[in-house]
Amino acid sequence: MYYDTLKINDISKHDLDKIRMIAEQNEINFRYFENAIGISLDETTQISDIEDIMSVFSEWRGEFAHLQTEKLSIDWNTSLIRKSDFMTHEIFNRFNSEHEMLRYMKALENKDLSLTHSMISLGSCTMKLNATSEMIPITWPEFNAIHPFVPKNQVYGYYEVLEELSRDLIEITGFDGISLQPNSGAQGEYAGLMTIMAYLHDIGEGHRDVALIPSSAHGTNPASAVLAGMKVVVVKCLDNGYIDIDDLRSKAEQHQNDLACLMVTYPSTNGVYEEGIKEITEIIHQNGGQVYMDGANMNAQVGLTNPGMIGADVCHLNLHKTFCIPHGGGGPGMGPICTAKHLTPYLPGHAVVDISSNKAMGAVSAAPFGSPSILLISYAYIKMMGSGGLKEATKIAILNANYMMKKLGSAYQELYKGANGTVAHEMIIDPRPFKISAGVQVEDIAKRLMDYGFHAPTVSFPIPGTLMIEPTESEPKDEMDRFCQAMISIREEIGRIESGEWSREDNPLVNAPHTSDMATASEWNHQYTREEAVFPLHWVKQHKFWPSVARVDNSYGDRNLVCACLPTEAYIEMPS
Ligand SMILES: *Cc1c(COP(=O)(O)O)cnc(C)c1O
Repeated sequence: MYYDTLKINDISKHDLDKIRMIAEQNEINFRYFENAIGISLDETTQISDIEDIMSVFSEWRGEFAHLQTEKLSIDWNTSLIRKSDFMTHEIFNRFNSEHEMLRYMKALENKDLSLTHSMISLGSCTMKLNATSEMIPITWPEFNAIHPFVPKNQVYGYYEVLEELSRDLIEITGFDGISLQPNSGAQGEYAGLMTIMAYLHDIGEGHRDVALIPSSAHGTNPASAVLAGMKVVVVKCLDNGYIDIDDLRSKAEQHQNDLACLMVTYPSTNGVYEEGIKEITEIIHQNGGQVYMDGANMNAQVGLTNPGMIGADVCHLNLHKTFCIPHGGGGPGMGPICTAKHLTPYLPGHAVVDISSNKAMGAVSAAPFGSPSILLISYAYIKMMGSGGLKEATKIAILNANYMMKKLGSAYQELYKGANGTVAHEMIIDPRPFKISAGVQVEDIAKRLMDYGFHAPTVSFPIPGTLMIEPTESEPKDEMDRFCQAMISIREEIGRIESGEWSREDNPLVNAPHTSDMATASEWNHQYTREEAVFPLHWVKQHKFWPSVARVDNSYGDRNLVCACLPTEAYIEMPS
């Protein structure tokens, strides 16, 4: 008996078909090769499973076989048997009742500020509503307990969902084909670039390997290009945040013999719809390149415009941004790619499940459709919204961003606006001048927002020292107003430092966030009051979120890890 994987060789085609028929009648799937059968066992396999497997073979042989369990034994090196105790840390041994365990987990949850408390305005991340009704289906075993290589005829319903979702995403992007394989935006970028390479290779242009990438791009863009074997050439941006089209043209012409592609984000990571986008894609095509559109900002396009219309050839979609899969805490995500007709045949294939044309490149992930159970969330979102609803959502997302831009405009400088003085679905505000006027940096504002009960917006991306804010369509006006009031109140606090009322060394910004320990300590030696510290606006009192730790110096904290576990020395076993 071998742990894990068995391969039974030399089975004729006729016998293989027969075994398969018997197995399927008993609701068992094996892996079928040309003339062999593969069986995987793991730590969840029970004796009864082995009996079931044996019964398939005995039925095929027409003879009864009995599993002699008393003869089952596994040999292993006894020196591998653990003699030491394990999981001795107090935390693994303290909670011995359901109530205690529940309270422990709730206590951990309470340290976490989430969308259940207030808006999370992370720009470029699109933190939108993950409706409960969209997420319920992933708890159904019909979807979450299916092996990724299951034969299609056992999961027609699942395939129908995947096919309908595919059709909808193709329509939304204005493209022709799709691969549901990539598990993240970055993996989509890699898959899209590899698709471009496979196409270029096939048309005899395989030597093309230069990727033009604007300096404002997300860090994953150049990283994916390098992984795909391309050389990165950076294109400049103008002072207004737009791509420098003259620089783009000259670099495209300079590389006209080896240009593979441009990677471009639209609307840009600077939060504007670039009016020159069609000219940009034309320049790339004229010089023999393909256009990869980073789809992280699709929340500003769905139903109004699409990558096909602006002249892109391939794009990824962050379904965990635009299409409601929960985003944050590390995923899981889905980053499918959509392609124009000439690229479709080259989309990723799969070694076990037949999903592609004969020109397909290899797989980019182990499962043919990535993490399909979470695709149900995007499917439910699209179906419940309908095409009219999706378009409306995009409009509201843009309206919300512009509403906040106007409200915050009196207190902060926005960095970039489009030609008619508006932004797309997000905006960048620039607190860098406060460094000089009040000694206040972007981190101080981010930390101070915690005292007001808010998660910080995106800090220092794409421009160091700035804040990028994206409300999405999910936030109501009241919540956006609360966030703006907090930001404006922080601006007033900065004013009190500028005027000299509070010193640069001791003010609620540099000391933020304030914990309950700090606020209730017997001694209070600050120039501002306890109330100003922890209840800076009257409504903060109504549902105060107490940060559990005070400021940890950013880089010092990163380099000097303090762990609550037992020290490593405790794990050194004395030689016996
Ligand atoms: C989020 C994001 C990515 C990467 O997507 P992941 O799913 O996080 O890998 C790429 N580009 C932009 C502009 C993004 O905002």
